[in-house]
Amino acid sequence: MRYIAPAGMPLGLMELATGLSAGTASKSLRHLEARLAGLTDTAVCRSFSSGRAAMTVALKAMKRASRDARRTEVVIPAYTCYSVPAAVHRAGLQVRLCDLDPTTLDLDLASLDRSDLSRVLAIVSTSIFGIPNSLEELEQIARTRGVYLVDDAAQALGAQHAGRPVASFGDAGILSFEKGKNITTMNGGALVTRNSDLASCIDLDYETLPPAPVLAAAMTCTKLLLYAICSHPLPYSFVRRIPGLGLGLSVYDTTYSVGRYSRLLAGLATRLCERLDAINLQRNRNAASIEHALLDVSGVRLLTRHASSRPAHVRLPIFIDARERRMAVLAALDHAGIGASASYPHALGDVPEVRAKLMRPDAPMPGARQIASSIVTLPTHPFCPPDIGTRIAEIVRRTLRVSQAD
Ligand SMILES: *Cc1c(COP(=O)(O)O)cnc(C)c1O
Repeated sequence: MRYIAPAGMPLGLMELATGLSAGTASKSLRHLEARLAGLTDTAVCRSFSSGRAAMTVALKAMKRASRDARRTEVVIPAYTCYSVPAAVHRAGLQVRLCDLDPTTLDLDLASLDRSDLSRVLAIVSTSIFGIPNSLEELEQIARTRGVYLVDDAAQALGAQHAGRPVASFGDAGILSFEKGKNITTMNGGALVTRNSDLASCIDLDYETLPPAPVLAAAMTCTKLLLYAICSHPLPYSFVRRIPGLGLGLSVYDTTYSVGRYSRLLAGLATRLCERLDAINLQRNRNAASIEHALLDVSGVRLLTRHASSRPAHVRLPIFIDARERRMAVLAALDHAGIGASASYPHALGDVPEVRAKLMRPDAPMPGARQIASSIVTLPTHPFCPPDIGTRIAEIVRRTLRVSQAD
């Protein structure tokens, strides 16, 4: 049986070849940056070796541009990609966690607005799984409280909130082209902004960065060639068992390099941007059909959505509160060849490297913990078969019925 990978983006061999060859042009980085600034309705874009590198540079620029030396903390969601706290630490700043609403995955705005932000430099929204946070409200809070807002769209390129692109809110947006993001070139990221003071501070750093090493780019192109062949659902079932690829793992790491993006990969990324809307449309359709099929399955909680958002579903989160039943469903889906995942295994306050540096390690984060212990994410990518919704619903229903009887 075909295995449906947790994430995937169709990449044809022709597309790869034309993309990379466009990347040999001397202006390919500038082309991509102009394209991304256009897509996100911002003024300035700089590309980097990764999304976390872009985040590191953005936060350092904010530290430099801020006139208040006491502002050394960065508020981040208590449940998100581990690269976010790693980037805060790498920028020499302190993490402060904000709890999430487990029904929407949004930041707990009320508690954020109540808290003392006098030592806070920036708030980071992360719109995980391509579901926009309440970005208008966050922008408002950040503005009135005199702190920066970083609109991290690493998982939400092409999503919108209140008619505006995610990544365009606040002072800086973060994009990523890692594996498992909206579009991928294996690695790479970008920073977008409309704030010209900040843009000058960003360029102070950017100008000192070395160009991407040629050998690393050549290796990435080889991986992309393998990906173009293997991302098809069938071979992926073999690929995912190869040790050392680190597929689907969440790690906290601050030793990543902060450098420029590769020109070759930029050529490919520019090409993939042309298909971004079509890819996101397909993902959203798959997400809608899975949610529709799961509507009447008891024991499953679906996300509550913001009416004025258009998501870009890189994955679809659902929630199963009963711990053992959740594990049974994950195992049953895997057994049936469907790449469901338990997502990030812990709330950030329970990740040892993050916890060790928290100023208030015992602040309760019940929402984030509830998400970590109940979330199941489902594939939405264009390789999913048309009956993905009914297949998933049948397996989930059967598994929950059996485990309830136990
Ligand atoms: C992936 C991700 C990042 C980091 O991007 P990389 O390109 O992997 O460094 C940052 N924030 C979020 C929310 C992410 O999902």
